[in-house]
Amino acid sequence: VDAVRAVEPRVADAIASEVEDQRASLKLIASENYASPAVLLAMGNWMSDKYAEGTAGRRFYAGCRNVDTVETIAAEHARELFGADHAYVQPHSGIDANLVAYWAVLSQRVEGAALRRAGVRNVNDLDDRAWAELRRELGDQRLLGMSLDAGGHLTHGFRPNLSGKMFDQRSYGTDPATGLIDYDALRATAREFRPLILVAGYSAYPRLVNFRLMREIADEVGATLMVDMAHFAGLVAGKVLTGDFDPVPHAQIVTSTTHKSLRGPRGGLVLCAEELAEQVDRGCPMVLGGPLPHVMAAKAVAFAEARRPEFRDYAQRVVDNARALAEGLLRRGVRLVTGGTDNHLVLLDVSGHGLTGRQAEAALLESGVVTNRNAVPQDPNGAWYTSGVRIGTPALTTRGLGVGEMDEIADLIATVLAAVSPTAPGTGEASKARYTLDARVRDEANKRAADLLADYP
Ligand code: PLP
Repeated sequence: VDAVRAVEPRVADAIASEVEDQRASLKLIASENYASPAVLLAMGNWMSDKYAEGTAGRRFYAGCRNVDTVETIAAEHARELFGADHAYVQPHSGIDANLVAYWAVLSQRVEGAALRRAGVRNVNDLDDRAWAELRRELGDQRLLGMSLDAGGHLTHGFRPNLSGKMFDQRSYGTDPATGLIDYDALRATAREFRPLILVAGYSAYPRLVNFRLMREIADEVGATLMVDMAHFAGLVAGKVLTGDFDPVPHAQIVTSTTHKSLRGPRGGLVLCAEELAEQVDRGCPMVLGGPLPHVMAAKAVAFAEARRPEFRDYAQRVVDNARALAEGLLRRGVRLVTGGTDNHLVLLDVSGHGLTGRQAEAALLESGVVTNRNAVPQDPNGAWYTSGVRIGTPALTTRGLGVGEMDEIADLIATVLAAVSPTAPGTGEASKARYTLDARVRDEANKRAADLLADYP
């Protein structure tokens, strides 16, 4: 930080302050974690200065031998870790990984067919009529993904997102009675809609997904199964999710972030079957900007860490902690979507407390608990105010907290929620953000959070 301080002290201060914030609050954001010093240090190096468009051994720039080494090692670790045929470690983020995957499937299936029809190898060799026809065909392709309010991600076909504009999209949701994916309804929608791509995976679904069944449905309608395991990649790496619940043996293409439960640097990853490897590897420069070699170095370190036996123990503790947290909340009368959890996250429905997610999130933050508001299925408050709060255990488990502490945290959360009242003078949207919180409860909660964390610096 001293080198930064010499140039721009305000940035140095913000960096130092962020370390303090992360140290001093209960980090329960389900998509966050603490990367190891080895991962962080691997990222801060001169590889950042190198241009390396292309892939290892096939670059558009000279002098890439060290980047080749790093990218090859990262891909090797990723393949071994997940048992995948092929790994592409360049995506800068999870959203980028999803774009690469969509582009690869479109290229392989739609563009590939057009090239074969025309008897050429490259789109540049199509005549104008064949090119116009291909563009029309690309625009007609269908995507079926989980809806946002059921726990899917923006990039799974949400209309305002690019994925919702690239594709003719439709969503599947969850059973209103149970909150669980209704595979029969999903199968019926797939049969009728016949998507090119069926997307599985989620940002806010607290249960397991049966990927064997998903693949069966995809095969039945001729779709490619893509699984976005951004949230639960750490549980796959740690062999907590196996068999039907491990996406890698079942999906043709799997995308992920590397910074959530997987505990690596901020970034993305694509795993795929051999038949898609060539297209996926063209992600840069066809979809992505130049690779971030320093981040690929950090991914290699993180994947190597995740291959160690300790990581399996970590992944199991993440799930055990989430279950303890859920049980503690239920015992104290907090309503949970689906009534519990099978993975690393818990989705609280705070409408029972007469609150919006926005009010609950802010009151918890004041009390030393960092969470994020999240829509619940059929949420009457929409995606901005919401009726839910999502919490997850990857970060606090890294820090060493266990099931005993989770019960204490459940008590702390339940106590704060019971002490919040919406102050809605009048109506209107803004009232969905206003609340009062008993100051004594807030101060006591902050003290309890600090005491809990003091044992796990
Ligand atoms: N996919 C899922 C399922 C996610 O939850 C997220 C994170 O919010 C992403 C993709 C996007 O990841 P990133 O923020 O790295 O682009």
